[in-house]
Amino acid sequence: MLGAMENKLQHHNRTAKEYVQGVYEELKNRNSHETEFLQAVEEIVESLEVVFEKHPKYMELGILERIIEPERLIAFRVPWVDDEGHVQVNRGYRVQFSSAIGPYKGGLRFHPTVNASIIKFLGFEQIFKNSLTGQPIGGGKGGSDFDPKGKSDLEIMRFCQSFMSELSRYIGPDTDVPAGDIGVGGREIGYLYGQYKKIKGTVEPGVLTGKGLGFGGSLARKEATGYGTVYFVQEMLKDNEQDFSGKTVVVSGSGNVSIYAMEKAAEFGAKVIACSDSNGYVYDKNGIDVELVKQIKEVDRERINVYLETHPNAEYVDGGSVWEIPCEIALPCATQNEIDEATAKTLIENGVIAVGEGANMPSSLQAINQFLENNVLFAPAKAANAGGVAVSALEMAQNSSRIAWSFEEVDEKLQEIMRNIYQNSVQAANEYGKEGNLVAGSNIAGFLKVADAMVEQGII
Ligand code: NDP
Repeated sequence: MLGAMENKLQHHNRTAKEYVQGVYEELKNRNSHETEFLQAVEEIVESLEVVFEKHPKYMELGILERIIEPERLIAFRVPWVDDEGHVQVNRGYRVQFSSAIGPYKGGLRFHPTVNASIIKFLGFEQIFKNSLTGQPIGGGKGGSDFDPKGKSDLEIMRFCQSFMSELSRYIGPDTDVPAGDIGVGGREIGYLYGQYKKIKGTVEPGVLTGKGLGFGGSLARKEATGYGTVYFVQEMLKDNEQDFSGKTVVVSGSGNVSIYAMEKAAEFGAKVIACSDSNGYVYDKNGIDVELVKQIKEVDRERINVYLETHPNAEYVDGGSVWEIPCEIALPCATQNEIDEATAKTLIENGVIAVGEGANMPSSLQAINQFLENNVLFAPAKAANAGGVAVSALEMAQNSSRIAWSFEEVDEKLQEIMRNIYQNSVQAANEYGKEGNLVAGSNIAGFLKVADAMVEQGII
């Protein structure tokens, strides 16, 4: 069947290099202002040239042109009333990027920097990440330029209700399943879920993941991204006769991903000496007190400098970069492009041996090249932070079958998934002549499954 279709398509006389460059140049011309999205696509196309060389059918069937164009991009008005009685208007987004292997799946981000470029970069990455988990989930992402910082609980609730009033038209347990991301945690998911349920008039717990444990949430979902990142890095270290034990670790951010990455790294015997928020960083040479960070950030919703009130011997540097502190293992878990080329050079000069990306695209392309050229073990985001969405898919499975697994069951499945992602990425890198390059390996492994599904489903 496929052969017949290929024969009917116009055959282009072009090399794989010309193809990927041509598609990328055209994207740049059409989306010149979407810098983050272009960056995410550039990283992928660089890795995929070897795939198109080996399988020209993907070129003939226009897989790259199609995969970089979202199936749908939704933008909408989110009006709400603040505590002073003023009307506020934010902008909401949902990108439904690819449903080739399953319903759209990906988090919601509430942060003032959110725009179409950020949502498209995150949604694009999500396609490959979700494919890597081995579960049947497509790629999507959404959010708003709403800033949750300093808002009262009632303002957060009103915003979430207004956001969901519109979003509910486009999502569903078999269509599109959002979850959390920056600025969206258990509290926000609860309000979003409540409003969805009220609008639909039915109980569909599988429509959102990261829910509270009392109404369909999964044990170990909260921990999954941070733990998963550390499990992945541990696999990578073990493969190189190393492990976390006794190593100094610096983690950026102090949110959901950072907290549980610190917790697991410490459990594996590492010494986590610093973490941060968008105001500054805390350096505690005795080891970061993770329980205290949980209290400050998850419960009190305070700034990280409060850490010093109970730990006066720690240092707080206002406005400083946490990457100034020498460490053996760096786990960027805050946001995109927090490590540029100069920062990467500093880390390398300070003796870093491994970098594990808990955040999405925290390293620029130039920073990644620095790490690879200097033989720093590098665990790219798509692979290393896939544990969160993997456990989200496990939450969907539990919701469908109306059961709840124990923490240990979910954690064991998570460990197995992270091991498989690591192995599949290594194998793909080896098969395509990119030994030791997990960026290429994970991009290729994630791509192949989606590309094959697109081939079989025709030109849609
Ligand atoms: P949270 O909102 O829980 O925490 C984000 C943390 O990063 C906060 O400490 C925040 O500081 C800091 N931060 C955010 N923006 C900046 C910035 N511009 N400069 C410095 N620090 C910043 O988000 P998550 O932990 O959920 O997400 C962190 C990263 O992990 C994101 O890249 C996200 O896409 C990625 N990710 C998350 C998953 C999840 O399951 N939650 C899954 C996979 C990836 P402050 O409090 O000052 O804003």
